[in-house]
Amino acid sequence: MTETSGGTHLPGSFRIKHLANQLFGWSPNQPSAAQPPDIPHQRVVHLAVLDTFAVPILLLNAQRVVVEANLAAHELFGARLVNHDLAHSLRHPAALDAASAAIAEGRQSTTPITLLTPVTSYYELHALPVPPDRDAKVRAALILQDVTAAHHVEQMRADFVANVSHELRSPLAALTGFIETLKGPAKDDVAARARFLDIMEVEAHRMGRLIDDLLSLSRVEAKEHLRPKKPVDIAGLLARSRDVLGPRAAERGIPIELDCPPVLPQVAGDADQLYEVFHNLLDNALKYGPSGQPVTIRAQMVERIPEIGGQGLRVCVHNSGDPIAPEHLPRLTERFYRVDKARSRDIGGTGLGLAIVKHIVNRHRGRLSIESSAENGTSFCIYLAEFPKESAPVTQL
Ligand code: ADP
Repeated sequence: MTETSGGTHLPGSFRIKHLANQLFGWSPNQPSAAQPPDIPHQRVVHLAVLDTFAVPILLLNAQRVVVEANLAAHELFGARLVNHDLAHSLRHPAALDAASAAIAEGRQSTTPITLLTPVTSYYELHALPVPPDRDAKVRAALILQDVTAAHHVEQMRADFVANVSHELRSPLAALTGFIETLKGPAKDDVAARARFLDIMEVEAHRMGRLIDDLLSLSRVEAKEHLRPKKPVDIAGLLARSRDVLGPRAAERGIPIELDCPPVLPQVAGDADQLYEVFHNLLDNALKYGPSGQPVTIRAQMVERIPEIGGQGLRVCVHNSGDPIAPEHLPRLTERFYRVDKARSRDIGGTGLGLAIVKHIVNRHRGRLSIESSAENGTSFCIYLAEFPKESAPVTQL
């Protein structure tokens, strides 16, 4: 990150340093003893200045009583903050110790703290000593930097790594076990060897699929901020998905019915990624729908895309069979979330198909809706914006 000076719209930690610098002449690289002694306290207590900062700021006197607090601090701790000991509003031992140390010992510090009310939030508390001055009572300033979003991202990253390791470990353990058996007890057992090799092949394919899906997810995420804009013929993609998955559908005795009007407007998108969406949805309908019952793909124009607006297309992939219970619906697009883990694994699922679908739809600024009931079966519908009529398709030479 490049550090620039001036303005209050500064990113994360630099904003805190900048603020501290402006108010107190404090620098994180400067030992406390080397701080300039004559800082005008009028600047420090100037509420108009403090209120312009979105981070909660509290100024404390020698007894740790809050003498000033900005608007953001009042929003966080309530109105009865000023003229009370800090412990009155911030009951956090580490935060109180940091404040006391700044006042009594002139020690500057940064302490991670968690506040449980009104909702669990994570902060970095910067405690800055303010050198004594003849006519001012401020001895320390506390600045609370909200790091909740970064904390959640870190948590998601850690969960993701744990999930990937877990998903890879089980097929790997099966492969290792069978290799040992084939080298040892089953060395000369021809029938067992054939059976074990079949299982090993299934497990190796499962690892391959998982790696393919992980790569696909990371490619989609990397491009999510770039909205694709090429004209895409959806009818062609739907026909291709049906043809590619036709043999698998035939194995399960499932007819695929494609219901698509003869003329369908193009959408603005990325053809390869949209193909992946329809392939994943159709693959799921074939995996989770009952054998012998048809799966339907229906495409139609819509005047207005719900919640987004504008003309577009709706493509729904429908299967009958057991409905998905309502409590699962909002979580289906989370990575590795499955309604029935064992069933998904048995039929070759990785738990990433719908996460990939969601990211691709987000990249297209589209919408995914899922409906499931005992009467109507399960439908996954994608809404995509029409390719703008005024922009002629680009011909690349
Ligand atoms: P998986 O590889 O397990 O199929 P997905 O991300 O594609 O992973 O789907 C997540 C879960 O959503 C599945 O494990 C399954 O429980 C449920 N699901 C997805 N599609 C359907 C469907 N068409 N009918 C019923 N359940 C479905």
